[in-house]
Amino acid sequence: MTRPQPRAARLCSRVGCRHLATKTLTYIYADSTAVLGPLATFSEPHAYDLCDQHSLRMSAPVGWTVIKPEPDAVPAGPSSDDLMAIADAVREAGARESSSASEISGIEIPPLELGRRGHLRAIPN
Ligand SMILES: [Zn+2]
Repeated sequence: MTRPQPRAARLCSRVGCRHLATKTLTYIYADSTAVLGPLATFSEPHAYDLCDQHSLRMSAPVGWTVIKPEPDAVPAGPSSDDLMAIADAVREAGARESSSASEISGIEIPPLELGRRGHLRAIPN
C-alpha cells in the first residue's frame, strides 16, 4: 500500500487503553459542557481522544451537559457535519479564552509573511 498514513494515528487517551481513537471529547469549562464529536484533525489542549468503547462509556461531572451522538440514534439526529461544526465552534471559543492576549476582539489576524517578503525586495542596496 502506498497510500500515506495520517500524520499521527492517535490512540485513546485513557490510561492503559491501546485502541485507536475514533472520537474527540472536548471540555468547555466555562459552560460546563462536554462535546463528543468526530475525531479532531489535530490535538487540542482541552480535547481528549477516545476509542469506541471509552467514548460510549464516557461520563461528565454532575451538572455538566454532554453533547454526543446516541449509539442508537434515529437518522433524524444531528449529522456528523453538525457535530463537527459544534466541536469546531467550541474549540474556537476555548482558543479565544486561552489566548485572548494575542487577539483583538476575537478577530483572527492573517499572517503577514507574504507582504513582508514583498517589502524586503523593495529595499535598495
Ligand atoms: Zn479507550
